[in-house]
Amino acid sequence: MMPRKAQCACGRLQVACEGDPALVSLCHCLECQRRTGSTYGIAAFFPREAVAVSGAASLYSRTSDSGFAVDHHFCPNCGSTVFWEPQRKPEYVAVAVGAFADPSFPAPDKAVYGRHRHPWVTAPADPHD
Ligand SMILES: [Zn+2]
Ligand SMILES: [Zn+2]
Repeated sequence: MMPRKAQCACGRLQVACEGDPALVSLCHCLECQRRTGSTYGIAAFFPREAVAVSGAASLYSRTSDSGFAVDHHFCPNCGSTVFWEPQRKPEYVAVAVGAFADPSFPAPDKAVYGRHRHPWVTAPADPHD
């Protein structure tokens, strides 16, 4: 299988991912809403060794509710967040599902932060919290 490719809006920051994601998670949290400008974010978690990054990235790090940092990597030219590194799961790299621009991409396995879900957003699975 050819690696799936994700990229920012302008195309300068690209990520190639081998194989299928280990987990796809939809997040309704307010931080994801602000980061994406949408009403939720979706992350595809790939094993670190399956991900190859090309192009320059800027870093925005924030502390998650778990107390661990999440390091977000975004294009310095267009601002799209393409991938992030959750320090709570250092063996994985999370890639923004929308950055693949691929409607055949695997659907979310779960949804989290359901308490922040916009009521019109249909959850793909029972929110965990
Ligand atoms: Zn860009
Ligand atoms: Zn979130």
